[in-house]
Amino acid sequence: MKLVVQKYGGTSVKDAERVMNVARRITDTYKAGNNVVVAVSAQGDTTDELIEKAKEINPDASKREMDMLLSTGEQISISLLAMAIEKLGYPVISLTGWQAGFRTDTKYTNARIKTIDTERLQAELDRRRIVIVAGFQGLNKYDDITTLGRGGSDTSAVALAAALHADVCEIYTDVDGVYTADPRICKSAYKLEEISYDEMLELASLGANVLHNRSVEMAKKYNVKLSVRSSLNNNEGTYVKEVSQVEKMLVRGVTRDNDVARISLCGVEDTPGKAFQVFGMVAKAGISVDLIIQSIGDGKTKDISFTVAEGDLDATLALLEENKGIINAREIKWSNEVSKVSIVGAGMVNNTGVASGMFEALSNAHVNINMIATSEIKVSVLVARKDAERAVNAIHDKFLSK
Ligand code: ASP
Ligand code: MG
Repeated sequence: MKLVVQKYGGTSVKDAERVMNVARRITDTYKAGNNVVVAVSAQGDTTDELIEKAKEINPDASKREMDMLLSTGEQISISLLAMAIEKLGYPVISLTGWQAGFRTDTKYTNARIKTIDTERLQAELDRRRIVIVAGFQGLNKYDDITTLGRGGSDTSAVALAAALHADVCEIYTDVDGVYTADPRICKSAYKLEEISYDEMLELASLGANVLHNRSVEMAKKYNVKLSVRSSLNNNEGTYVKEVSQVEKMLVRGVTRDNDVARISLCGVEDTPGKAFQVFGMVAKAGISVDLIIQSIGDGKTKDISFTVAEGDLDATLALLEENKGIINAREIKWSNEVSKVSIVGAGMVNNTGVASGMFEALSNAHVNINMIATSEIKVSVLVARKDAERAVNAIHDKFLSK
């Protein structure tokens, strides 16, 4: 008998009708002779609404209490989904994260799964029950409830698939799969049949909002074959797996990320240790820096520019202002009217000229490049936000037109 792990996101279970629809999908899989374990997210915007509720009372609430609150969203959806399956006449049981054996570290609101004790899960499967597990939650060593970070239910599902040695992990969402670009901004974008773990990891961290990047990391580590598909139709989705050398495409996808802001320190002293001073201070404040460029300098002064998430802009500027005596820049400039546009493809490793092809496409589309960063399988550029959609389309036409 095969074991199938499925994950349904918030939009897939947002109301009674959708819950019944998901229940039918689950029981169809069960009826076909499979064991089924399901991880579910909170319904619709529940998690956001819970965060709002907390803010009304105490914007500085402790993370422990936030987790106590946020974990309730998933508890609602597992019980409702189990009730729907009961109604269809199938054996089912819902389990919270802790009942399902999820143990995490102690980092409230962003915990990592440490172990899954599968005894209870296995016993329920042996009874041929459909098991519905609350995603996004676990228990730490103090027996406190923890959550896994926003979007963490994907990771719960992959962890279940790994721990139970499932045959496949199906991630059901409101899109058909992984696309070559966001179809909302790029008309010619199309769905990929498959993509490698590494490419998916890059896409996930570059702003393609399909999978939680930790879930991809875990799928790669435990070799869990993922299928990303829609809960609203029967279209084949996208497989995320180890892809063979032959199938490696030069460019597999183009992304745009608007959650970025640029800061430039102009005319800082051109002396050893300056970068360490600046980035050491930023890192210590818990702010992550993404793209960085530094001009060569002329022995007297140089410029350092970097990007942070837009939400970290104010905190970063405040920090630089506080330390302006140490940094000693002639001027600090910033902009949040920027976007990061990236291309990802495992085939880049063995091919030169991919980056220049991207720059050519941008040049033809009259898009100015602010910053550039490359790695083995991706190239990112920073452009003006107003140019970002045009940039995505120009690059997509160049590398991915059919
Ligand atoms: N409900 C959680 C969130 O909204 C977890 C998830 O949906 O994966 O972030
Ligand atoms: Mg999600």
